[in-house]
Amino acid sequence: MKIAVIGVGAIGSQVLWQLSQRPGVEAHGFESGYIGHPFAGAGGEGRLYRNFELTTEAYMPIVRAASGAWAELEQASGTELIQRQGVLLIGDEGDAQLQHAARMATEWELPYEQLEGDALRTRFPQFAFRRGQIGLVDTTAGVISPEKSIMTAVAQAVQRGATVHEFAPVASIREANEGVEVTRASGEVEAFDRVVVACGGWTTKLVPELRDWIVTRRLTSAWFIGRDDGYLDGLPPFMQVAPGYCYGIPTEGGRSVKLGLGFNDHLPTGDPDTLPRHLEHDAAHEQRDKFAWVMRELLPGLAPNPVRMQTYVESYTRSMHEYLDLAPGHSNTVVLGGFSGHGFKIAPAIGQIGADLAVSGESALDLEFLKSAQPVFEITDAATGATTRNSVVESAGRGN
Ligand SMILES: Cc1cc2nc3c(=O)[nH]c(=O)nc-3n(C[C@H](O)[C@H](O)[C@H](O)COP(=O)(O)OP(=O)(O)OC[C@H]3O[C@@H](n4cnc5c(N)ncnc54)[C@H](O)[C@@H]3O)c2cc1C
Repeated sequence: MKIAVIGVGAIGSQVLWQLSQRPGVEAHGFESGYIGHPFAGAGGEGRLYRNFELTTEAYMPIVRAASGAWAELEQASGTELIQRQGVLLIGDEGDAQLQHAARMATEWELPYEQLEGDALRTRFPQFAFRRGQIGLVDTTAGVISPEKSIMTAVAQAVQRGATVHEFAPVASIREANEGVEVTRASGEVEAFDRVVVACGGWTTKLVPELRDWIVTRRLTSAWFIGRDDGYLDGLPPFMQVAPGYCYGIPTEGGRSVKLGLGFNDHLPTGDPDTLPRHLEHDAAHEQRDKFAWVMRELLPGLAPNPVRMQTYVESYTRSMHEYLDLAPGHSNTVVLGGFSGHGFKIAPAIGQIGADLAVSGESALDLEFLKSAQPVFEITDAATGATTRNSVVESAGRGN
């Protein structure tokens, strides 16, 4: 069976690695850029890896499968892809997401620590914790190296016989003769038995049938240094879910911390190919100011101006739960998209699911909860992807 994976980013790289291990499969990856490039949804040198689901228990089997597959990839390649130093989850006492996380940890027998009051302040002196805030340390969580993970999964796939085409953007796909014709932007056409679309923010350019369900959003990451030397020493990767949502990932060597904000700052955008990649002047001013509350309320020792700001694109479904299924009206085209800001940590499990769906049409993992998920925001303009803000998401966003 000849299978094309279109888009070799966080997800496509894992699908390719899985397909390369399936007997009788000839796997081909098509990537617009080079393998491990930072210009789509996977750049910026760090992604949080968490073991606790914050809102939906049905994800836990996928999270667990991902944990096993990450370890397998690390073992097969002899490469460390996740630094498992623990991740601090911060929220108000009684916050539904924190309570859910603690329940998941207990029920799924995952190690964690709960800290509050002086114990929390002493352990993590960088933070200005508010009265009533608590911290859960997901002790075996950590930080994924995204670019290295993609390069490693692809290298492993190629070692097992997969073929990768870099700088090979696909312009269109068309189901024909019980297979799928893939047309490259260069005009070259090739026939496949099955196609897996894993194009992230570009998904609906190839599968316009999903335009009323998947939308592209632009996210900004900003890197800050401490006002004083040593302020960032010992800062853990963290995620605050309440009162405001933000997360932070210290960079290697502890020189800076990369900050990200919540869903309502993930801006709806139109064509991802026309996005501004560098923020200057007014756009930089506006983005910098969005991070100011983090210094004011949570990490007062950070310098107010970022040393680097970068934009990335990600695909969101209206339910904030990924779309893992055949493309509507298609028989041989599987779409893996709409990871809604949280796809990296589960990418190897999605690789298994994608390979299963492409090869046999069925996944061993239960995906029903994704199919029945209800929309939590509206897409108001299918052509531009502009969406409304939504208070449900604001107060109960799933986080990354
Ligand atoms: C700033 C930011 C922070 C995040 N933080 C976290 C986190 O902490 N933890 C977490 O788990 N998740 C996080 N995520 C989410 C995670 O990174 C994404 O869910 C994941 O990268 C999505 O993977 P993907 O393969 O769908 O898309 P991508 O990784 O963007 O890959 C898509 C690939 O398809 C290629 N492509 C597109 N169109 C074509 C075409 N026509 N032909 C060929 N190739 C094509 C692109 O070049 C790209 O390489 C974050 C996302 C962002 C943007």
